[in-house]
Amino acid sequence: MGEAVTADAVAGLTPLTGRTEPWMEELLAHPERCAALIEEYGSPVNVLDFAPLGRNAAELVEAAASEGVRLGVYVARKANKALGLVHEARRVGLGIDVASLAELTQCLDVGFAADDMILTAAVKSTALIEAALAAGVLVSLDNADEAEDVASIARARGVTARVAPRLASSDPAIAPTRFGMTARDWDRVVGEAGGGGTPLRLEGIHFHLNGYSARERAIVLREALTWTDALRSRGHAIAFIDMGGGVPMRYLEDREQWRRFWEALEGDREEVLTWRGDRLGLQDPRADRPSASVYPYWQERVRGEWLRDVLAAPAGEGSTVARELAARGLELRCEPGRSVLDGCGLTLASVAFRKSTSDGVPLVGLHMNRTQVRSTSADFLVDPRWVRPADTRDTSEPFEGFLVGAYCVEEELLLRRRLCFPDGVARGDIAAFVNTGGYLMHILESASHQLPLAATVVKRRPQAASGSSPGSESAWVRDGIDAVGATGAASATGDVPWGPMP
Ligand SMILES: *Cc1c(COP(=O)(O)O)cnc(C)c1O
Repeated sequence: MGEAVTADAVAGLTPLTGRTEPWMEELLAHPERCAALIEEYGSPVNVLDFAPLGRNAAELVEAAASEGVRLGVYVARKANKALGLVHEARRVGLGIDVASLAELTQCLDVGFAADDMILTAAVKSTALIEAALAAGVLVSLDNADEAEDVASIARARGVTARVAPRLASSDPAIAPTRFGMTARDWDRVVGEAGGGGTPLRLEGIHFHLNGYSARERAIVLREALTWTDALRSRGHAIAFIDMGGGVPMRYLEDREQWRRFWEALEGDREEVLTWRGDRLGLQDPRADRPSASVYPYWQERVRGEWLRDVLAAPAGEGSTVARELAARGLELRCEPGRSVLDGCGLTLASVAFRKSTSDGVPLVGLHMNRTQVRSTSADFLVDPRWVRPADTRDTSEPFEGFLVGAYCVEEELLLRRRLCFPDGVARGDIAAFVNTGGYLMHILESASHQLPLAATVVKRRPQAASGSSPGSESAWVRDGIDAVGATGAASATGDVPWGPMP
């Protein structure tokens, strides 16, 4: 191989072409820059440019404004661990939703104001509650025991805790949940405002639903509106309803590809499309969302359009959710993770080997493991892009096979669909998993076998990049999170530079 070739037609047998951003195309068009990133940081390497964050959030704010609703966006930090995300969220004036002591402390260190934060951790340690109360951060309350913990810590510190009870819907149309409590159960816990010298101040109502249904969000918003009236009548100054995350996004360009894939999987008698005939949870292929075990990588209504559907839903007689929020002077808040990280990341990994299973199924081994490109969904249904640097060697014949990773288990598939490699696979090729910024890099990553976690690099902010040519590999800098130990504090001896500062 003398010339640089972008062997870019790699796709599933039924293709699922990923949506990309211009910065991704720019990087992928330069195989030597991809190779240099892996050379410097190892494989895999997570590459992040948070520039789309502000645009994605603005789409939500503008959609709400068009319905007459004031929207506060609190980015769900758990969707990507990079400190670059925290810096960018603050730079573009967004709030942040934190779920652990490390996340909380890092955001405070970056300079987030308490008013721009919410703590939603599912389980809260004493240290976490103490840190939130000391900083004046609003706490989403999950249950009565936790409310008692928060109240007793507030009393001991002589402060008032700002809280928002987490509402578990009692509407039969909403799936049962382990999170929060019903309004009726909360009413027994929170009582009258100021009653009994309680140090809890209810400032809002919080909920977060599984799934991505606009209709279900409208149902629970109506429930929260009714509960707002009841709480206000008992003296609680409810100022906002926080509808959590689950704002949908699209990974694929083309709806037809998504439809064809499920149709093909349903009729896949030969079991060629997926690993050992995996059905990926396929239940009802005619349903709009054919499977409960994979993310709907193509959705009809996303972000702004979707939020407009929520807000325009009917509420009360001849009214809408939007009008009822506005009539009460309520702010609407949301905590989107995935949908505001749309377009913010990709993961690069280099080819380790080509081989076949003992029964002849072709495999491509990558220098990575499956927790490094995995969400809780059964598979990442987006085709990788394929990058061939100039100095690759020993290119194979074209073939169809599967990507496997480094963990010593038979089911260590990086993607569960069979891929077609029309230009073969060379040693030194690079697989690029596009649009992995939300969850896919970090939510399940592990360091089993004591393999190191992947490095995370972020786009250097333009003013900091003076002296380096834009677009070169030095446009990327190691994110500060890689210097943070398990305690959430920066390691004193770490020689990893801190990420881009504002
Ligand atoms: C995970 C989570 C979010 C973010 O959800 P997305 O689907 O990424 O938008 C927001 N709020 C809470 C409480 C969460 O647990």
